[in-house]
Amino acid sequence: MRFRPPRAAAVLDELSHCNKCGFCLPACPTYLATGDEYLSPRGRLSLAEAAVAGEMPVGEELARTFALCLGCRACESACPSGVRYGRVYEAVRATLFETTRRYTAPPAARALLALVRRRGRFARAVAAGRRLGWLLPPAARAVLGAAPPDPGPPTAPAGTGEPAQYFLGCVGEVVTGSANRAAVALLARAGYGVGVPDGQGCCGALHAHAGDLEAARDLARANVAAFEGTSGPVVNHAGGCGAFLKEYGHLLADDPAWRERAAAFAGRVRDLAEALAGAPRPLRWRGRGDRVALQNSCHLVHVQRIGELPGRLLAEVPEDRLVPWEGGDRCCGSAGLYSLLEPEMAARVAARSLEGLYRAKPTVLVVNNPGCALQWRKTLKQAGWDLPVRSLSEHLLARLASDGPESGP
Ligand code: SF4
Ligand code: SF4
Repeated sequence: MRFRPPRAAAVLDELSHCNKCGFCLPACPTYLATGDEYLSPRGRLSLAEAAVAGEMPVGEELARTFALCLGCRACESACPSGVRYGRVYEAVRATLFETTRRYTAPPAARALLALVRRRGRFARAVAAGRRLGWLLPPAARAVLGAAPPDPGPPTAPAGTGEPAQYFLGCVGEVVTGSANRAAVALLARAGYGVGVPDGQGCCGALHAHAGDLEAARDLARANVAAFEGTSGPVVNHAGGCGAFLKEYGHLLADDPAWRERAAAFAGRVRDLAEALAGAPRPLRWRGRGDRVALQNSCHLVHVQRIGELPGRLLAEVPEDRLVPWEGGDRCCGSAGLYSLLEPEMAARVAARSLEGLYRAKPTVLVVNNPGCALQWRKTLKQAGWDLPVRSLSEHLLARLASDGPESGP
């Protein structure tokens, strides 16, 4: 199998801007963890170039190098020439997936990707996994063991103000649903009337990163249709999902029936931090003297490019102190299915971040992506550090001042 012409052209177009300067290397978590050029953005781009030129097969070596890529896209922010590594990553993973699914998605991962397509079925599987955890592979057991024990009731509409629609996600709602419920409660307090449209599902990012673009497009079409006929921003609280929702226009650009509908949907997508920053009713906060460390979602920082907003919100909370730390904007090793498929490298990446976190001496760690919440709970548990990990929404809801007209329901 060779690269198909549109994918080969996409790769070559991006590579034509790459001057091999290497400025992206210090931004890459897998390069930092290994010092291996072939686990750096420049190395991966070189291999993609060789594969497109037919100088190396679309096979095991290419698959392994890209399987170890977190897809965090920190290299894009670091690149002075504007190389969109994410486009190359997408083309390579999709070509590998079409060549032989084994390269990007082993059987267990394929089963998981099939499960998350239907939230009800996924929720039943997670419940069974909690009961029969000993049957799961160690990496999956560790991730599930780090999840909150009770998923609670489904997230429901709330509030009566300016319309906004909430996007639930799959893992976000089933495994860490309390973050969604806190987000909807915050939006309602901030003056939004929040709807939760039926028919929405997984955003498709996990499928796209595994190379299964057709599954991702199916999920995208379902989500676009679910939110049509509603008004206001489409708000979500998962940096990775939000980044992918904002790229639906690109994902469905070659589908004439859906191109414009997808672009219109993508234009409505807002992260929770964006929605709160532009809320109809300003919120007031009351801190508790905490030292707050923020683990920003890498896709919020490097794809959505709004990484400053969560920190700005946290810095508004009086009496708490937002503490900077080395690793706060770097991938924690979660990266979709990565921590399940590549637990050894995920642990090496997490270990580097943990060092930075120790030095910052926080009393709470705030995250804005469900995968990061699970990865950090697991990492801290294994390190024997009982640092609380909270979603941004849960943390801010707990910091709402109860007095003053602005904070009323
Ligand atoms: S991707 Fe950008 S930063 Fe990295 S080597 Fe190429 S031009 Fe330099
Ligand atoms: S996406 Fe992340 S892990 Fe992959 S090459 Fe870029 S910086 Fe490295």
